Amino acid sequence: MARRRMIYEGKAKVLFEGPEPGTLVQYFKDDATAFNNKKKGTITGKGVLNNRISEYLMNRLNEIGVPTHFIRRLNMREQLVREVEIIPIEVVIRNVAAGSIATRFGIAEGTPLPRSIVEYYYKNDELNDPMVSEEHITAFGWATIQEIDEIIALSLRINDYLSGLFLGIGIKLVDFKLEFGRLWHESGDMQIVLADEISPDNCRLWDAKTNEKLDKDRFRRDMGNVEGAYQEVARRLGILPEAGPADAPAPDTVQ
Ligand code: UDP
Repeated sequence: MARRRMIYEGKAKVLFEGPEPGTLVQYFKDDATAFNNKKKGTITGKGVLNNRISEYLMNRLNEIGVPTHFIRRLNMREQLVREVEIIPIEVVIRNVAAGSIATRFGIAEGTPLPRSIVEYYYKNDELNDPMVSEEHITAFGWATIQEIDEIIALSLRINDYLSGLFLGIGIKLVDFKLEFGRLWHESGDMQIVLADEISPDNCRLWDAKTNEKLDKDRFRRDMGNVEGAYQEVARRLGILPEAGPADAPAPDTVQ
Protein backbone atom coordinates (compact mmCIF):
# COMPACT_ATOMS: atom_id res chain seq x y z
CA MET A 1 0.00 0.00 0.00
CA ALA A 2 1.21 3.53 -0.74
CA ARG A 3 2.81 5.29 2.23
CA ARG A 4 0.44 7.70 3.86
CA ARG A 5 1.17 10.97 5.60
CA MET A 6 0.89 10.71 9.35
CA ILE A 7 -1.48 13.26 10.87
CA TYR A 8 -1.32 12.37 14.54
CA GLU A 9 0.15 9.68 16.77
CA GLY A 10 -1.73 8.88 19.95
CA LYS A 11 -1.07 6.32 22.67
CA ALA A 12 -2.94 3.42 21.09
CA LYS A 13 -3.61 4.62 17.54
CA VAL A 14 -2.06 6.53 14.66
CA LEU A 15 -4.06 8.64 12.23
CA PHE A 16 -2.94 8.89 8.61
CA GLU A 17 -4.22 10.94 5.73
CA GLY A 18 -7.02 9.03 4.00
CA PRO A 19 -7.35 8.14 0.31
CA GLU A 20 -9.96 10.84 -0.31
CA PRO A 21 -10.41 14.33 1.12
CA GLY A 22 -12.37 14.25 4.35
CA THR A 23 -11.19 10.75 5.27
CA LEU A 24 -8.51 9.42 7.60
CA VAL A 25 -6.99 6.00 8.18
CA GLN A 26 -7.02 4.96 11.82
CA TYR A 27 -4.23 2.45 12.63
CA PHE A 28 -4.50 0.39 15.84
CA LYS A 29 -1.24 -0.25 17.71
CA ASP A 30 -0.48 -2.90 20.33
CA ASP A 31 0.85 -0.21 22.70
CA ALA A 32 -0.98 0.27 25.96
CA THR A 33 -0.65 3.06 28.49
CA ALA A 34 -2.35 3.73 31.79
CA PHE A 35 -2.31 6.32 34.56
CA ASN A 36 -1.67 9.13 32.07
CA ASN A 37 1.34 7.45 30.46
CA LYS A 38 3.04 6.50 33.72
CA LYS A 39 2.55 2.82 32.90
CA LYS A 40 3.48 1.63 29.43
CA GLY A 41 3.43 -1.75 27.79
CA THR A 42 2.52 -3.80 24.78
CA ILE A 43 -0.38 -6.20 24.53
CA THR A 44 0.37 -8.52 21.62
CA GLY A 45 -2.49 -8.58 19.14
CA LYS A 46 -4.47 -5.86 20.91
CA GLY A 47 -4.55 -3.58 17.84
CA VAL A 48 -6.00 -6.32 15.65
CA LEU A 49 -8.67 -7.18 18.22
CA ASN A 50 -9.64 -3.56 18.96
CA ASN A 51 -9.89 -2.82 15.22
CA ARG A 52 -12.38 -5.70 14.87
CA ILE A 53 -14.30 -5.02 18.06
CA SER A 54 -14.65 -1.31 17.32
CA GLU A 55 -15.68 -2.05 13.71
CA TYR A 56 -18.37 -4.40 14.95
CA LEU A 57 -19.76 -2.01 17.56
CA MET A 58 -19.64 1.07 15.29
CA ASN A 59 -21.48 -0.89 12.56
CA ARG A 60 -24.20 -1.96 15.00
CA LEU A 61 -24.55 1.67 16.19
CA ASN A 62 -24.71 2.95 12.60
CA GLU A 63 -27.48 0.43 11.95
CA ILE A 64 -29.64 1.86 14.73
CA GLY A 65 -29.07 5.39 13.45
CA VAL A 66 -26.28 6.60 15.72
CA PRO A 67 -23.99 8.68 13.48
CA THR A 68 -20.33 7.68 13.71
CA HIS A 69 -17.08 8.55 11.95
CA PHE A 70 -16.60 4.89 10.95
CA ILE A 71 -16.70 4.06 7.23
CA ARG A 72 -15.16 0.60 6.91
CA ARG A 73 -12.32 -1.61 8.07
CA LEU A 74 -9.45 -1.73 5.58
CA ASN A 75 -7.29 -4.54 6.96
CA MET A 76 -6.20 -6.20 10.20
CA ARG A 77 -5.03 -2.98 11.83
CA GLU A 78 -6.59 -0.12 9.86
CA GLN A 79 -9.99 1.39 9.36
CA LEU A 80 -11.22 4.20 7.16
CA VAL A 81 -12.99 6.96 9.06
CA ARG A 82 -14.41 10.39 8.32
CA GLU A 83 -12.29 13.32 9.33
CA VAL A 84 -14.02 15.18 12.13
CA GLU A 85 -13.15 18.07 14.41
CA ILE A 86 -12.68 16.30 17.75
CA ILE A 87 -14.44 17.91 20.71
CA PRO A 88 -11.76 17.89 23.46
CA ILE A 89 -13.99 16.15 26.01
CA GLU A 90 -13.94 12.53 27.17
CA VAL A 91 -17.49 11.47 27.97
CA VAL A 92 -17.65 8.70 30.57
CA ILE A 93 -20.90 6.80 31.07
CA ARG A 94 -21.19 4.64 34.17
CA ASN A 95 -23.67 1.94 35.14
CA VAL A 96 -21.77 0.28 37.98
CA ALA A 97 -19.24 1.88 40.35
CA ALA A 98 -15.63 1.10 39.39
CA GLY A 99 -12.32 2.90 39.00
CA SER A 100 -12.24 6.60 39.78
CA ILE A 101 -15.89 6.98 40.86
CA ALA A 102 -15.47 4.15 43.37
CA THR A 103 -12.32 5.80 44.78
CA ARG A 104 -13.68 9.37 44.70
CA PHE A 105 -16.88 8.60 46.61
CA GLY A 106 -15.77 5.55 48.59
CA ILE A 107 -18.25 3.24 46.86
CA ALA A 108 -17.38 -0.47 46.72
CA GLU A 109 -16.42 -1.54 43.20
CA GLY A 110 -19.28 -3.44 41.64
CA THR A 111 -22.09 -1.47 43.31
CA PRO A 112 -24.80 -0.75 40.72
CA LEU A 113 -25.44 2.99 40.40
CA PRO A 114 -29.01 4.26 41.02
CA ARG A 115 -29.05 5.49 37.44
CA SER A 116 -26.54 5.86 34.59
CA ILE A 117 -24.16 8.72 35.29
CA VAL A 118 -22.51 10.82 32.58
CA GLU A 119 -19.24 12.61 33.39
CA TYR A 120 -16.95 14.85 31.34
CA TYR A 121 -13.18 15.11 31.39
CA TYR A 122 -11.14 17.73 29.54
CA LYS A 123 -8.74 15.96 27.15
CA ASN A 124 -5.38 17.32 28.24
CA ASP A 125 -2.52 15.01 29.24
CA GLU A 126 -0.48 17.82 30.83
CA LEU A 127 -3.38 18.57 33.15
CA ASN A 128 -4.12 14.87 33.72
CA ASP A 129 -7.55 15.03 32.02
CA PRO A 130 -9.37 16.98 34.76
CA MET A 131 -13.05 16.33 35.38
CA VAL A 132 -15.17 19.24 34.17
CA SER A 133 -18.82 20.29 34.26
CA GLU A 134 -21.09 21.64 31.52
CA GLU A 135 -20.31 25.10 32.89
CA HIS A 136 -16.61 24.68 32.11
CA ILE A 137 -17.34 23.19 28.69
CA THR A 138 -19.54 26.08 27.60
CA ALA A 139 -17.58 28.86 29.37
CA PHE A 140 -14.30 27.79 27.79
CA GLY A 141 -15.98 27.27 24.41
CA TRP A 142 -15.16 23.55 24.04
CA ALA A 143 -18.76 22.85 23.01
CA THR A 144 -22.08 24.69 22.95
CA ILE A 145 -25.10 23.85 25.09
CA GLN A 146 -26.83 22.42 22.02
CA GLU A 147 -23.81 20.24 21.29
CA ILE A 148 -23.71 18.99 24.88
CA ASP A 149 -27.43 18.14 24.72
CA GLU A 150 -26.81 16.14 21.56
CA ILE A 151 -23.78 14.42 23.13
CA ILE A 152 -25.78 13.42 26.23
CA ALA A 153 -28.68 12.10 24.14
CA LEU A 154 -26.33 10.06 21.93
CA SER A 155 -24.31 8.79 24.92
CA LEU A 156 -27.39 7.52 26.77
CA ARG A 157 -28.71 5.89 23.61
CA ILE A 158 -25.36 4.22 22.99
CA ASN A 159 -25.28 3.09 26.62
CA ASP A 160 -28.76 1.53 26.43
CA TYR A 161 -27.96 -0.24 23.19
CA LEU A 162 -24.50 -1.49 24.15
CA SER A 163 -25.62 -2.58 27.64
CA GLY A 164 -28.18 -4.86 25.99
CA LEU A 165 -25.79 -6.06 23.31
CA PHE A 166 -23.14 -7.02 25.86
CA LEU A 167 -25.62 -8.57 28.29
CA GLY A 168 -26.74 -10.80 25.42
CA ILE A 169 -23.23 -12.31 25.35
CA GLY A 170 -22.90 -12.57 29.13
CA ILE A 171 -20.99 -9.32 29.69
CA LYS A 172 -21.81 -6.42 32.01
CA LEU A 173 -21.04 -2.97 30.58
CA VAL A 174 -19.76 -1.34 33.78
CA ASP A 175 -18.58 1.95 32.26
CA PHE A 176 -17.00 3.33 29.11
CA LYS A 177 -15.52 6.43 27.52
CA LEU A 178 -16.69 8.05 24.30
CA GLU A 179 -15.35 10.86 22.15
CA PHE A 180 -17.39 12.93 19.73
CA GLY A 181 -16.51 15.12 16.77
CA ARG A 182 -18.05 17.68 14.47
CA LEU A 183 -18.64 16.40 10.95
CA TRP A 184 -18.95 19.25 8.45
CA HIS A 185 -21.12 18.54 5.44
CA GLU A 186 -20.60 20.27 2.10
CA SER A 187 -23.90 22.10 2.63
CA GLY A 188 -22.27 23.79 5.61
CA ASP A 189 -24.36 21.77 8.07
CA MET A 190 -22.59 20.35 11.09
CA GLN A 191 -23.42 17.02 12.71
CA ILE A 192 -22.16 15.62 16.02
CA VAL A 193 -20.88 12.09 15.43
CA LEU A 194 -19.30 9.39 17.56
CA ALA A 195 -15.54 9.19 16.90
CA ASP A 196 -12.45 7.40 18.25
CA GLU A 197 -13.07 3.71 19.10
CA ILE A 198 -15.13 1.47 21.36
CA SER A 199 -13.06 -1.42 22.65
CA PRO A 200 -11.88 -3.08 25.88
CA ASP A 201 -9.29 -0.25 26.03
CA ASN A 202 -12.00 2.24 26.93
CA CYS A 203 -14.80 0.11 28.38
CA ARG A 204 -15.02 -1.84 31.61
CA LEU A 205 -16.47 -5.22 30.66
CA TRP A 206 -17.13 -7.82 33.34
CA ASP A 207 -18.33 -11.37 32.88
CA ALA A 208 -21.99 -11.18 33.93
CA LYS A 209 -21.82 -14.28 36.12
CA THR A 210 -18.34 -14.19 37.65
CA ASN A 211 -17.46 -10.45 37.39
CA GLU A 212 -14.16 -11.49 35.81
CA LYS A 213 -12.60 -8.44 34.17
CA LEU A 214 -12.40 -8.60 30.37
CA ASP A 215 -10.83 -5.20 29.74
CA LYS A 216 -7.84 -2.91 30.18
CA ASP A 217 -8.04 -3.08 33.98
CA ARG A 218 -6.18 -6.37 33.59
CA PHE A 219 -3.26 -4.31 32.25
CA ARG A 220 -3.70 -1.37 34.65
CA ARG A 221 -3.79 -3.72 37.65
CA ASP A 222 -1.22 -6.28 36.44
CA MET A 223 -3.77 -9.10 36.46
CA GLY A 224 -2.25 -10.96 33.50
CA ASN A 225 -3.89 -12.56 30.46
CA VAL A 226 -4.81 -9.19 28.98
CA GLU A 227 -4.81 -10.44 25.40
CA GLY A 228 -6.88 -13.47 26.41
CA ALA A 229 -9.51 -11.16 27.90
CA TYR A 230 -9.73 -9.04 24.73
CA GLN A 231 -9.91 -12.24 22.68
CA GLU A 232 -12.75 -13.50 24.84
CA VAL A 233 -14.75 -10.33 24.14
CA ALA A 234 -14.14 -10.76 20.39
CA ARG A 235 -15.01 -14.47 20.61
CA ARG A 236 -18.31 -13.79 22.33
CA LEU A 237 -19.13 -11.11 19.75
CA GLY A 238 -18.47 -13.78 17.11
CA ILE A 239 -15.65 -11.81 15.46
CA LEU A 240 -12.35 -13.48 16.35
CA PRO A 241 -9.88 -12.33 13.63
CA GLU A 242 -9.13 -15.92 12.61
CA ALA A 243 -12.62 -16.21 11.18
CA GLY A 244 -12.92 -14.44 7.83
CA PRO A 245 -15.72 -11.89 7.45
CA ALA A 246 -17.76 -14.30 5.33
CA ASP A 247 -17.64 -17.21 7.76
CA ALA A 248 -17.74 -15.23 10.99
CA PRO A 249 -20.02 -17.10 13.36
CA ALA A 250 -23.10 -15.49 14.82
CA PRO A 251 -22.76 -13.89 18.27
CA ASP A 252 -22.47 -16.40 21.08
CA THR A 253 -25.66 -15.57 22.96
CA VAL A 254 -26.09 -16.48 26.59
CA GLN A 255 -29.49 -17.30 28.02
N1 UDP B 1 -11.26 5.78 30.29
C1 UDP B 1 -10.62 5.89 29.08
N2 UDP B 1 -9.63 6.82 28.93
C2 UDP B 1 -9.23 7.63 29.95
C3 UDP B 1 -9.88 7.49 31.19
C4 UDP B 1 -10.89 6.56 31.33
O1 UDP B 1 -10.95 5.20 28.12
O2 UDP B 1 -8.33 8.46 29.75
C5 UDP B 1 -12.35 4.79 30.45
C6 UDP B 1 -11.94 3.62 31.32
O3 UDP B 1 -11.48 2.55 30.53
C7 UDP B 1 -13.23 3.28 32.01
C8 UDP B 1 -14.01 4.59 32.07
O4 UDP B 1 -13.42 5.43 31.10
O5 UDP B 1 -13.96 2.34 31.21
C9 UDP B 1 -13.98 5.24 33.42
O6 UDP B 1 -12.66 5.40 33.84
P1 UDP B 1 -12.31 5.99 35.29
O7 UDP B 1 -12.73 7.42 35.37
O8 UDP B 1 -12.84 5.07 36.34
O9 UDP B 1 -10.75 6.07 35.32
P2 UDP B 1 -9.65 4.98 35.60
O10 UDP B 1 -10.04 4.25 36.84
O11 UDP B 1 -9.64 4.14 34.38
O12 UDP B 1 -8.41 5.82 35.74
